[in-house]
Amino acid sequence: MPGPARATSIPVAVVHGAKPGPVLALVSGAHGTEYSSIIALERVITRIDPASLSGTVIIVPLVNVNSFEMKVPHVNPVDNKSMNRFYPGRMDGTQTERALYLMTKEVVDRCNYLIDLHGGDIDESLRPYSYWPLSGNAQQDAISKQMALAFGLDHIIIAADRPKDPAASRYLDNTANTRGKPAIAVEAGHAATTETDDIELLANGCFNVMRFLKMLPGTVAFVENPVWIESVQNMASDATGIFYPLVRRGTYVVQGMKVGYITDYVGRTILEARAPASGVVLYIRAVPSMTKGETIANIGVVAKQAP
Ligand SMILES: [Zn+2]
Repeated sequence: MPGPARATSIPVAVVHGAKPGPVLALVSGAHGTEYSSIIALERVITRIDPASLSGTVIIVPLVNVNSFEMKVPHVNPVDNKSMNRFYPGRMDGTQTERALYLMTKEVVDRCNYLIDLHGGDIDESLRPYSYWPLSGNAQQDAISKQMALAFGLDHIIIAADRPKDPAASRYLDNTANTRGKPAIAVEAGHAATTETDDIELLANGCFNVMRFLKMLPGTVAFVENPVWIESVQNMASDATGIFYPLVRRGTYVVQGMKVGYITDYVGRTILEARAPASGVVLYIRAVPSMTKGETIANIGVVAKQAP
């Protein structure tokens, strides 16, 4: 069938360990052009050794196959929906909604823990960070916090604003967390690149979490002094034109500092983008194309106290 009603197929690898243990789900490619995260899970599939594994790892490296094949960022080009915004999904919906319904049933419901891997998309110059989504259950949140610290990215966003209703969970990590399964989301990569540093951060992070969960032997190196981010300020553009950045991903900015500007198509400056708060540039637009409403940068505000 053409259009949003047509069928899709999502690749999955399941690795059963020689010994019993928990089930960990690793998912990437909801955004099919966040290439570092996809390649990272390809490496995990290749490297994982069932003989030394306790439990099962479900690996879904490319949820959004159409995005990858057509090189379309952010959405599934079949129905123009983000494949990380329509959880828990529904079977009577468009392709994205049906695919996410099956992700909920076949992956989330079958796992005990989950990691959702992302990276800066084609138009995002991103510095690596994790999300620690709070479920409201202290015991569960303590486990997901340890997962984030074990994963190893040194900037961690405290995501306290995720939906609490499992029927309206929206994001994948949230779908797991609202169903009692500790889950985190992680991001590394930028602007369609596949740099070894980013890929290895993500692949090694997955193995570190397996060690934390006692699915693999070995000691875990937790992040000792993470930068905790208490809120993320999104800078949306009020103008359409050509974007020029003045700072890089990871730059620390103070409130009011100019982070970039936008000109019209004949070089006249039409907008100066100033940081709405002091913090770290989690990502900044990686391409000159800018249309009204799109993101200029995300600024992470550093928490005054560690949680
Ligand atoms: Zn993403």
